[in-house]
Formats: sequence, structure tokens, C-alpha cells
Amino acid sequence: MNADWYPLSDAPPFPAAGYAALADDLADILGTRNDVLLIQAEAVVALEAVAQSLAQSPTQSPGRPGIRALNIVTSLYGRWFGGWLRRAGAEVVDLMAALPGQPVTAAEVEQALSGGRFDLVAVVHAESAYGILNPLPEIAALVRAHGALLVVDAVASVGGHALAVDDLGVDVAVIGPQKSLGGQAGVSALSISDRAWGRVAPAGEAPSILSLADQRDQWLKTGRGMLPGTPSALEFHALAQTLRRVKAEGIAALQDRHHHAATAARAGARALTGRAWVAPDQASNLVTAAALPDGLTAAQVLAAAAPGHALSAGVGPGGEGLIRLNHTGARASLPVVLGDLAVLGRALAAAGYRADVGAALVAAERAANADRSA
Ligand SMILES: *Cc1c(COP(=O)(O)O)cnc(C)c1O
Repeated sequence: MNADWYPLSDAPPFPAAGYAALADDLADILGTRNDVLLIQAEAVVALEAVAQSLAQSPTQSPGRPGIRALNIVTSLYGRWFGGWLRRAGAEVVDLMAALPGQPVTAAEVEQALSGGRFDLVAVVHAESAYGILNPLPEIAALVRAHGALLVVDAVASVGGHALAVDDLGVDVAVIGPQKSLGGQAGVSALSISDRAWGRVAPAGEAPSILSLADQRDQWLKTGRGMLPGTPSALEFHALAQTLRRVKAEGIAALQDRHHHAATAARAGARALTGRAWVAPDQASNLVTAAALPDGLTAAQVLAAAAPGHALSAGVGPGGEGLIRLNHTGARASLPVVLGDLAVLGRALAAAGYRADVGAALVAAERAANADRSA
């Protein structure tokens, strides 16, 4: 091999005609005929761009306050989205779940919407921070009836949960390849409806990665060839490979694989600790929150776990009461789940709680088999 050839830095250019094909593949995954934009940055930047571009009504007179947004907060990501909206001038009402680490309920959303007129509602679909799933179909129906735009952070959920953007009427769905799709984090994407385009701030004087109007004017309206700026070939080759792999497996099979893994993890975790963090229909397929027994904290359990383990505490308020089993992307498999349950069971035992590891593994395997034949 030529010692002067560095495959990562000498990657061949990504063909200009390839970007539109990537966007079309992502549109298929999302079940949408809306425009799909490719954002050359990790998904938090795409989320910030959405907030920045929708926070002001394009028709309002200068100096007037921005739009009114209902921002559903079930983790750090929702908190950040509210912050970006506020910074860009929107009036934001944050709706928190009644208990930290729990999903919001449709009734809570309905009540919040009845408290005034909102132009936009934002929600995270599935949360890896606490392993929960927000009731997106119910929220989408409420938001449609209210007449507001619906913005969904589906970064974690895409590939792990069914996500039918057009059927649900999602105006903006933000996704990234780095979670359930098993890809790299350097490029993200979003779908955007015509309704949402009508509320996007016009392009500014100078180009901005936070301007969706720039993407429209410089990419969509120019025939979807080269992207604005200088694209990183590596990232787009990686995305193309990720999407090839997703296509080969099939998006439904990928979602099923996450569902089997989550079903197994929940059954095993429940057998270990005697508790569930949330009901099965409120649980994400990406991460399972093992609810800890009274008197045990995540820090204690993690300190007792075998070195090199893949367990983690929840992130945010209440996160000390749970241990996360990560079964996202390549980890969405029964052997990974069984391994993590065994590590968790032994850590619980080492921390002084009597957990029956054998019973938990049997419960997990049975649940996965039942789910597969369901
Ligand atoms: C991972 C994730 C993101 C994006 O975070 P990155 O730092 O870009 O990986 C956004 N929202 C949710 C809900 C996530 O889980």
C-alpha cells in the first residue's frame, strides 16, 4: 500500500448528483413527499436551524414579537429547543411532563393548547435520556386541530419507531443517522412541509447554516445539485453507506429489530428489579430504563458493575433512579440485551440487592421470541 495515501483525508469527491438521491431515500424512510434538506452538521444544528428559521413570522412588521410556541420538554433536547426559539425572538411556553423522566400525556398537551393560540408545537418523539416515547400520533392530531405547525425531533427515533411524517401531518421532522440508523453524526436532515415553508424567515444578507431559506434558495431551487458550502465527502459517503445498509435490511425490519430488543430488555429489567420505569406503550425502542429498587442509586449500581460495561444512568432530573440499557442501532440485538442484563444483575447483587439473573435472562429471551412471532 502506498504510504502516502490516506483513505480518510484523500476520499474521492461525493458526486453532485448523489445528494438528491440521499434526500429521496431519507424521504422514503420518513414516509413523506415534503422537501428533505441535508444539513452539514450534527442534528443539534439542524434543530437550531429550525428554531432560528421559524421563530419569527415572515410577514410580521419589524420590531414585533415572534411567534408563540408550545415547547414540550421531556429531556435536555426539548429544553435546548425552547432556548433556541426564545433567543430567536419567539414567545415560548414550556410544557413539562408532570414527573421528570416521564412522557407527556395527550391530555396535558390538550390542556396547554386550550390555554391560548399557538403558532408552533415542538416535541421529541422518543427520548434516549429516559427511554421514553411521547404519544406522537395523539399530539399530532391535537396540533392539527389547533392549526399550529408541528416540529418533531425524531433524531433518536428514526429507524427505531414507526414515523409516518405525511400520515401524521408532521410539518418539520429532524433526523440524524447516528442513532437507530447506525450511521455517523456529521450530517443531519429534516423534512419540511409547504405550510412550514410559508412561515420560514427569508434569507439574510450573509449565508447561514441556520437559515432554511438559504437551503431552499441555494439547493432546492437550483435543481438539487451541489450543496451550499463545501460538503465533506467523507460524511456523505458514510451517509450513502448507512442508507444502503438500511435499505438492505428494510426500514420495517430495522424498526422490528429495535422493538424485539426493547421488549426483551424491558422484560429482563423488570424481572431484575421488580419494577418498570414506564408502561410498555410509553417506552422507547432505543434505550430501556431499568427502574432501580428503593434505596439504590444509579451511581452505586454503576460503581459495582464489571469494568467495561455499557450501562449508564439517566440524563437529567430523576436520572439517578434508573439504569439505561442501550439497544440502539447495531446494539439492537438479543445477545447485546442479554449481556447487559447479566452485567446489570450482577451489579445489583454486588450493590446488595438480590437479583435473579437467570430468571431475568429467561424472561428476556421469552419476551423477544413472543414479540418475534406476534
Ligand atoms: C441524539 C439526539 C439529538 C442530536 O444530538 P447530537 O449531539 O447531534 O447527536 C437530538 N435529539 C434527540 C432526541 C437525540 O436523542
